Amino acid sequence: MGIVPEIGVLALQGDVVDHMRAVEAAGARAVPVRRESELDSVDGLVIPGGESTTMSKLLAVFELFEPLQKRLDAGMPAFGSCAGMIMLADEVLDGRPDQRSFGAIPMTVRRNAFGRQVDSFEAPIDLEGMVGGPFHGVFIRAPWVERVGEGVEVLGRVNSGDGPADEAGGRIVAVRAGACMATSFHPEVTPDARVHQYFVDMVRRSGAGAVE
Ligand code: GLN
Repeated sequence: MGIVPEIGVLALQGDVVDHMRAVEAAGARAVPVRRESELDSVDGLVIPGGESTTMSKLLAVFELFEPLQKRLDAGMPAFGSCAGMIMLADEVLDGRPDQRSFGAIPMTVRRNAFGRQVDSFEAPIDLEGMVGGPFHGVFIRAPWVERVGEGVEVLGRVNSGDGPADEAGGRIVAVRAGACMATSFHPEVTPDARVHQYFVDMVRRSGAGAVE
């Protein structure tokens, strides 16, 4: 890894341009990833929001699923937002039977989880380890995390309107496990680059020789 890490943004669908802008604002170089050769050089990868069932299909069509799985298994840092969070989970509830995910984070994610109450909403989220006050969370047909496995750190929660869950602190909407992190919300649609900064810092720390 050079002094400036190179972060890929999976560019099959979704908010690619906004993530690239946020990655650059966080001091890294952003490159769109559509094919296997583009994956080789990146130090980390953002998997944007969109539609996880479509993304799963497109990953197969572009012959990217297996190469990406390999890089994740080898420890490449990744940040998944919304549909990207679903793609990183090892268990997906309310998914389509043929939808695949990478299992990079041991967690159970429920698709369109807030849909029963509200399709889309915004809420301030206190994120563990983030200075500067709550992050403005924009949720769009968002998933939540129902189970976290060993080694998964909960970074943020939100009230869901579901009494018992809220009494327990709210639904889990941001997690981190090793070099991977995921948010239910879309940090790329706000001008606040702190979540991307958090990821870029993780990528920097993950590189053995962060400076060449
Ligand atoms: N509901 C979408 C899915 O299941 C995720 C929505 C989003 O990424 N904004 O993939």
